[in-house]
Amino acid sequence: MAWSPFAIVALVLILARTIAELWLSRVNQRHVRAHADEVPPAFREIIDEPTYRRSVDYTLAKSRFGEMVTAFDAALLIGLLFSGVLPWAFGKFAAAFGTSVWAMAGFLFAIGFAFSIISLPFAWYAQFKLEDRFGFNTTTMKTWALDRVKAFLLAVLLGFPLLVLVLKLIEWTGPNWWIWAAVLVIAFQLLLMLIAPAVIMPLFNKFTPLLEGSTLRDRLFALARRTNFPTRSIEVMDGSKRSRHSNAFFTGFGRFRKIVLFDTLVSQLAEPELESVLAHEIGHYKKRHVLKSLAVSIAGVFVGFAAVAWLARQQWFYRAFGFEYHAGFAAGNIVPAMLLFALLAGTIGFWFSPLIHLWSRRFEYEADAFARESMGDAQTLVQALRKLTEKNLSNLTPHPLYSRFYYSHPTLLERERALQSR
Ligand SMILES: [Zn+2]
Repeated sequence: MAWSPFAIVALVLILARTIAELWLSRVNQRHVRAHADEVPPAFREIIDEPTYRRSVDYTLAKSRFGEMVTAFDAALLIGLLFSGVLPWAFGKFAAAFGTSVWAMAGFLFAIGFAFSIISLPFAWYAQFKLEDRFGFNTTTMKTWALDRVKAFLLAVLLGFPLLVLVLKLIEWTGPNWWIWAAVLVIAFQLLLMLIAPAVIMPLFNKFTPLLEGSTLRDRLFALARRTNFPTRSIEVMDGSKRSRHSNAFFTGFGRFRKIVLFDTLVSQLAEPELESVLAHEIGHYKKRHVLKSLAVSIAGVFVGFAAVAWLARQQWFYRAFGFEYHAGFAAGNIVPAMLLFALLAGTIGFWFSPLIHLWSRRFEYEADAFARESMGDAQTLVQALRKLTEKNLSNLTPHPLYSRFYYSHPTLLERERALQSR
């Protein structure tokens, strides 16, 4: 395969991202190691020496594993894009099954499936070696395998029909197909958000409403009333089925809305601390973060489909990766552009992550401030955040540049400082 100018650009972009990721990881490791000898003064009252050491080891172990995955992913991507295997597979597939919408959806689905098979050993290692070594893993082999089977069935039942419909739209609506496709995908996402709490999440976890009459339930519902956050149920999820990490979130819309606390969180925090965590979650809702994030993801879907539609008209894009170019609005003509876009999107997207995280960090500060207002003090939330940082062995000393690229939340110190300033 001859190297076109764009193929070279794409290769440079992939290498640039990979090198940047590996470099950031190294810079971060060096930073963590430089602080590893003793607990930094700011954390002395938060964490004891042995726990701090474990958090350093955990950070370094995750970081080294991450580097391996980064390098493997880059090699795989470069191999796929520049060896000619994709156009070869596409040709074989089309020769065997034709270029109907169903066949083309099958092709994309098969590639996605192959990717998830390739990533299985990494997922397995992360869960049963890495997380296990630090005492976080509680997943059994059976749960792990069942999770994968369920995810696959969901992809067949929900993802595949969606793919078929998107490709049908190309043939039905012609040049403006991407607008219709974006609208369809967004409608599908909204529907999923609506039904997920009732239909999909229970496939993976058990949800139990807080015990009627318990002091925790009374406390949390009082908070919900006080902050004018109508909720029907506050449920505890058996997060401990898979991991000792803890979390809380709310999900669904309107009547279907529910607040979910991990059982691990409930056992780690005292009741007032749980209340402050819930206040933070309510803050996200009250400050319209959910709507704003949704608006951005809707815009993202439009931009993505517009990009695919544009790329699908560029011969140089197809030829750079060895695909034959055919004009016209048939699934078989657009699918290579979709596939290439899906493979390359992260290469560009990576450079936007500091921007996106800057935005999401602002949300976290706002939610923290909301929690402080509704709790009447900052100390309870600070206490909760400290405990969670300790229990999850979070990295207390990330390199600032690293946290800019990878952290959607401010660090513990940043949050404490913001909470304690007026
Ligand atoms: Zn938050």
